[in-house]
Amino acid sequence: MPEQPRSRRQTRAAILTHLLQSGGSFRPPLAKAVRLSEASLSRILFDLKAEGLIEEVRRPAPYVGGPTGLVSFDSAIALAALELTGQWLSVGVGGMAGEMHYTERVPLPKRPTVDAVSKVFREALILLRDWTRRRRIALAQIGITIPGLGRLSEFGNPIIPCDIERIGDMFGELFADVPVAFTNSVVAHATFHRCRTENYPFSDAHLFVFVGQGVAGAWMDDPIEDDALQPVELGHMVFGTDGPRCRCGHRGCVEAYASLPALAELLRVTEAELLQLGSEWATAIPLTSRVRQELRQRLFRLGLAIGNTLNVKPRRGVVISGWPSLLTDDDRKAVIEGIDACLLGGRKLAQVSVAFVPPSNGNDPQAALAFAAFCLARSGGMPAASTEAA
Ligand SMILES: [Zn+2]
Repeated sequence: MPEQPRSRRQTRAAILTHLLQSGGSFRPPLAKAVRLSEASLSRILFDLKAEGLIEEVRRPAPYVGGPTGLVSFDSAIALAALELTGQWLSVGVGGMAGEMHYTERVPLPKRPTVDAVSKVFREALILLRDWTRRRRIALAQIGITIPGLGRLSEFGNPIIPCDIERIGDMFGELFADVPVAFTNSVVAHATFHRCRTENYPFSDAHLFVFVGQGVAGAWMDDPIEDDALQPVELGHMVFGTDGPRCRCGHRGCVEAYASLPALAELLRVTEAELLQLGSEWATAIPLTSRVRQELRQRLFRLGLAIGNTLNVKPRRGVVISGWPSLLTDDDRKAVIEGIDACLLGGRKLAQVSVAFVPPSNGNDPQAALAFAAFCLARSGGMPAASTEAA
């Protein structure tokens, strides 16, 4: 990568996002990763420490004569996380390393309206304010994830009705000095995996696909770039207008075939039962050959949607998270075959590698917490510009 001049914020952001993704680093590898001399790094670390953003803990060196101070985020940093799902709004407080200190769920009504969702947010915010006040905790960042949030949101959300501006005003009223960022759920799940998965498969630009309540994707790029995380609505690629109805209002979307609710229906269990079985479902639920065949067809379709997305914007890597990750190699081969079947030039020629990471649904609000941590890191710990949504 060519050397580019960086602002102070960008340099601090590079250090902090590296610490977030690595979970902590000794000085020499950190200096190398962010392309700084050890002397320059030292000056910046001094500031970050004084501001309460990082700490340096004595650790046995991994090599003889090596350094003994491990640089990581200050464990006192508190972040708030709010994650809206189809059933409830999760609210929590946690730290930069993903540890949760507090979580609560405020249920949504069966058929939520804009007013009802606003009311649920207010309730959650009051819980959050009371909890942090009692403990005299000052929040460094708030991260909020909303399914289906994207460029359409100014005209209303097609997945869960909510008015982001109205909700944003509530934060301004109850948490006036705390930076707040909203994002699409899939972006938050992508961030969660990028920051919390050991040996995450790609470090350069790639496509992340999440198969949960819905099917969605995110373009992942260098974390300090402005467009580091961009949602992509590949779940609403239509495969036949006579197909099953999708929650977006159309028929035959890949989501209507491959989402978790669609899988539950195929297996004749409830979605809650499926979630409860977790990674066990693939072995716990016996599959007839008809169901297995149907499953493969749906996975193939998912692969087609991913391949088509890559035709539009080529990327060398794809990470898939969600229920397909829990299947055997043999079963999920259908996804790869689907990608291969429509990707221009085929997967080999396009040099696309596919990796599966475990699902992260049902762990709310962990994804929102990871997103809040990402926002804080990317702002370089200089909150003025951290209000922009990713
Ligand atoms: Zn749809």
